[in-house]
Amino acid sequence: MKRVVIVGGGIGGLSAAYFLEKGARDRGLDLDYSILEKGDRLGGNIVTERVDGFVIEGGPDCFLSEKPWALRLCKELGLEGRLIGTREGGETFVLHRGRLHPLPEGFILMVPTKALPFIMSPLISPLGKLRMALDLVLPRGGGEDESLGDFVRRRLGREVLEKIAEPLVAGIHAGDPERMSVRSSFPKFLEMEREHRSLILAMIRRKRRRRPSRYSMFMTLKGGLSELVDAIVKSLDPASIHLETRVERIEERGKGYLVRTSKGEILADVLILATPAYVSGDLLEGIDPGLSEVLRSIPYVSTATISLAFRKRDLEDLPRGFGFVVPKKEGRRIMAATWTSLKFPHRSPEDAFLARCFVGGSRMEDLVFLEDEAMIEMVREELRDIAGIRAEPVLARVFRWPKAMPQYTIGHGERVRRIRERLKGHPGLWLTGSAYEGIGISDSVRMGEEVAGEALQYLSL
Ligand SMILES: Cc1cc2nc3c(=O)[nH]c(=O)nc-3n(C[C@H](O)[C@H](O)[C@H](O)COP(=O)(O)OP(=O)(O)OC[C@H]3O[C@@H](n4cnc5c(N)ncnc54)[C@H](O)[C@@H]3O)c2cc1C
Repeated sequence: MKRVVIVGGGIGGLSAAYFLEKGARDRGLDLDYSILEKGDRLGGNIVTERVDGFVIEGGPDCFLSEKPWALRLCKELGLEGRLIGTREGGETFVLHRGRLHPLPEGFILMVPTKALPFIMSPLISPLGKLRMALDLVLPRGGGEDESLGDFVRRRLGREVLEKIAEPLVAGIHAGDPERMSVRSSFPKFLEMEREHRSLILAMIRRKRRRRPSRYSMFMTLKGGLSELVDAIVKSLDPASIHLETRVERIEERGKGYLVRTSKGEILADVLILATPAYVSGDLLEGIDPGLSEVLRSIPYVSTATISLAFRKRDLEDLPRGFGFVVPKKEGRRIMAATWTSLKFPHRSPEDAFLARCFVGGSRMEDLVFLEDEAMIEMVREELRDIAGIRAEPVLARVFRWPKAMPQYTIGHGERVRRIRERLKGHPGLWLTGSAYEGIGISDSVRMGEEVAGEALQYLSL
């Protein structure tokens, strides 16, 4: 019987296992597979805590419905009835000169699609608005692998970059737009420029063409994203899961691989590494130092999420919208906050208000490692100054994510190309997860399905 070893039990590794088992069943292939996870639980960055009627997400709290793979997997696993979208009508606010301003209605990421709310908004200066409107007439441009910062400045102007794009990107990728590759991080924007020249025109046309969907842009599960992890695990063979099993080294053995772990050795015909790129780099050092070097050169940043719950009656004013993002220029110590109770239903008791704040990222990575007490104090001070929340929290949870967010910096596309090239010299070896071709959950599911398909093909030959 052929043996497949998957290293890493995050959503990338679990998706690969799920599609592997399903594909083997469909093909009538006898397969033995193992998932080796160093931690004492599965899910990787996905962790949900349910306490006193609150659903608290430590890592991701939703996935994009526009990228269909996570949604499709939820349905396949019988979770359709558990899917929930965001509540109606929530705005995102941006901190500007110490005050929160709503992102004008019709803004999609950093591109306006409605003229009036944009013209009326005090967030961007009159000159900044004129500069933005130049996007309608500017020719195509840009270099080979442009930074997101250069791209936004070129098309929409400096003000949009500083006030909107930079804080939104910090909130999503915890990244620095001056270092991020627009090609690898936001390929859709380049596609829009290529096809329509103007981003504003492209967004308006896309919006007109879009068919009405039953799903909101961000989707999640009623009891939190760990429901997805639990459902995948339930569909797998329990004997295949090995927790607290750290993979320490990998060696080539004939046509396969010898996997040395903290609990012993396993021989694999197929090896799927679903670990962060720098871990995969260390594990492959003995097999291919060149591959190892490229893998280690993919940078990661650390972040933390801090959830605070308040009694509604203790709040002077109930905040509005879904939360806010903070431009770097404002010099604050949090990157963003989500009003979880207002964004998703079923996340807190009726009389409570749940907020989730983001700390760290490329801007202030050191803050991630503050002690819990100091971290909570700092976040409370920031919420007091920015949103006027002075109440005493009834619950506080801190989750740290050291080196958990891969950064698709300039040159990322070339790095991924070199990785693919080198993998050709190691038949039976695959890499998957958020380090390579898509940072969010949905892309990790897609890549898990792809590597499972390729591995089955390889084993069937
Ligand atoms: C704070 C935060 C918020 C996020 N928010 C969102 C969001 O809202 N929406 C979204 O789509 N995405 C979000 N993301 C990104 C999302 O979490 C990732 O895309 C996804 O979880 C990556 O899954 P993965 O399996 O590639 O990696 P991971 O989840 O990192 O899994 C890797 C696994 O490998 C294990 N491992 C490491 N080394 C070894 C070893 N030597 N031996 C064995 N096992 C090992 C680890 O313990 C871990 O379980 C967020 C990420 C973070 C950190």
